Amino acid sequence: MEIIKTDFLIIGSGIAGLSLALKLKTLGEVIVITKKRLFDTATSLAQGGIACVLSEENHFDLHIEDTKLAGDGLCKDEIVKLVVKSAPARIKELIDWGVSFDRDPENPSRFHLTLEGGHSRKRILHVGDYTGRAIERVLIENCLASENIILLEHHFAVELILDRGCDADACKVDGVYVLDLEGSKVKIILAPIIALCTGGAGKVYLYTSNPDTATGDGIALAYNAGVTIANMEFFQFHPTCLYHPKAKNFLISEAIRGEGGILLNPEGKPFMHKYDPVRRELAPRDIVTRAIDMELKQSGGECVYLDITHLPSDYIKKRFPYIYETCLKFGIDITTQPIPVVPAAHYLCGGIKSNLWGQTDIFNLFAIGECACTGLHGANRLASNSLLEALVFSHQAYLKIKEIFPTLKKEKINLPKLKEPEIKEIKEEKIFISHNWDLIRKIMWDFVGIVRTTKMLNFAYKRINLINQEIEENWSGIYLDLDVMELKNIALLAELIVKSALLRRESRGTHYVLDFPFKSKEYERDTLLKKFP
Ligand SMILES: Cc1cc2nc3c(=O)[nH]c(=O)nc-3n(C[C@H](O)[C@H](O)[C@H](O)COP(=O)(O)OP(=O)(O)OC[C@H]3O[C@@H](n4cnc5c(N)ncnc54)[C@H](O)[C@@H]3O)c2cc1C
Repeated sequence: MEIIKTDFLIIGSGIAGLSLALKLKTLGEVIVITKKRLFDTATSLAQGGIACVLSEENHFDLHIEDTKLAGDGLCKDEIVKLVVKSAPARIKELIDWGVSFDRDPENPSRFHLTLEGGHSRKRILHVGDYTGRAIERVLIENCLASENIILLEHHFAVELILDRGCDADACKVDGVYVLDLEGSKVKIILAPIIALCTGGAGKVYLYTSNPDTATGDGIALAYNAGVTIANMEFFQFHPTCLYHPKAKNFLISEAIRGEGGILLNPEGKPFMHKYDPVRRELAPRDIVTRAIDMELKQSGGECVYLDITHLPSDYIKKRFPYIYETCLKFGIDITTQPIPVVPAAHYLCGGIKSNLWGQTDIFNLFAIGECACTGLHGANRLASNSLLEALVFSHQAYLKIKEIFPTLKKEKINLPKLKEPEIKEIKEEKIFISHNWDLIRKIMWDFVGIVRTTKMLNFAYKRINLINQEIEENWSGIYLDLDVMELKNIALLAELIVKSALLRRESRGTHYVLDFPFKSKEYERDTLLKKFP
């Protein structure tokens, strides 16, 4: 078996992984692995932008306040302050790497800032309506130009290798079993520092804005290694994904509502005033999503509409070129027609529990970006705070790694006996795999979605457990098939989400349970899950 040794192993090529790589390259050799192509990330899909306080009237305190209000009592103060106050420095770094944020046409010495739901001030920096794509491109270009960074596409992280020689409190990770999907072999990559930057888990749900890569792999890797996972019940649903039979995962950015877009019910009437009379369309996402869910359930309609036709056609085309062109491909001219939209699973607020430095329970295993639960988002993420969180925590991790790496590098790796994994072939028809994929996603959408009940959650729990047993019996081990490997992860993620949802007997943020419609002081804490308690 091929064994590769490096200084830093990063799993994931989104904003978290690549921004960390660009910092660590000054300390040693970095390998970044990614399971598809470099560009296949949620980062590439981000439209709206990055929240950052740049102007004096747009005080840090207000961004902190807005973040905490959205987080509904569960944000960690220290983390919120850190992220908001570090934003200008991290944005400057992005600009130095080559990202060119839009300027204000009236005053080109300033950036053009926009508004999104839950923000009390305009503070979102953006590049048209394709901010993520612009950032991802710059990060990839910089990584490709660096001699110290090795980028390996189609490499899937399967299992963490732990140093079993150490005691529980000081347990260490030594490497990762990696499936080389194109070379059809398993490799071991050993490194004194490993960072999980594997993104979210939207594929657990039938409808999602997320890319196909979002199967919660990093969370599964960490959980299986005994690391603590937090707040999995808080899955944010984005209120407005394009509703069209041929559109897959296409998000209609919150910035459209920021520019005055109005939501209309299936009868063509505005409705947000009934649910949040003051903020209306700009209420936080959980409120807007539940309002749409209610309107759809009451009317039996299939979608609601987002209308921006009151704005001049030229302005719409210039401000939202990507959304305009994509909708036009589906026969919808957003300058003259309201856009059909539905909610979809969008962002996992929970994840691998990490500290101020991005460290997990295992001190040399870091978790950064959407796979981590830092305490920034609490029970509900404020729009455009996630790209920022990834940047801030890759910097925090870099600071900690700079401190611990010299000692770790000198240490001898005390490896357990490495197994020679056999790569298995699927014996039965692939329909067993695709059926279980669909089943899990449908169960999660129908019973663990926007509005939950204890009965629905218990129903889902039993069914997901059965699927997990079947997976264990039939597909344990390593298969040279991404669908099988990801199926195991979405099944585990589904179980963790339902378990956490059952533990939180209140409604808070994105977790809304009809049997417990109120917030309870008793639950002002994280929901923690661990494989080996
Ligand atoms: C449509 C859309 C719009 C959004 N808009 C915004 C926005 O405007 N502003 C904002 O702040 N946030 C936005 N978000 C959220 C934000 O984009 C993500 O939270 C953020 O990009 C996550 O970055 P990441 O680096 O953690 O993960 P990702 O960018 O998803 O990268 C994860 C990487 O890990 C790799 N990976 C996963 N598992 C494995 C494995 N087992 N082995 C190897 N590699 C693996 C993936 O292939 C991928 O390369 C949006 C999200 C979506 C989906």
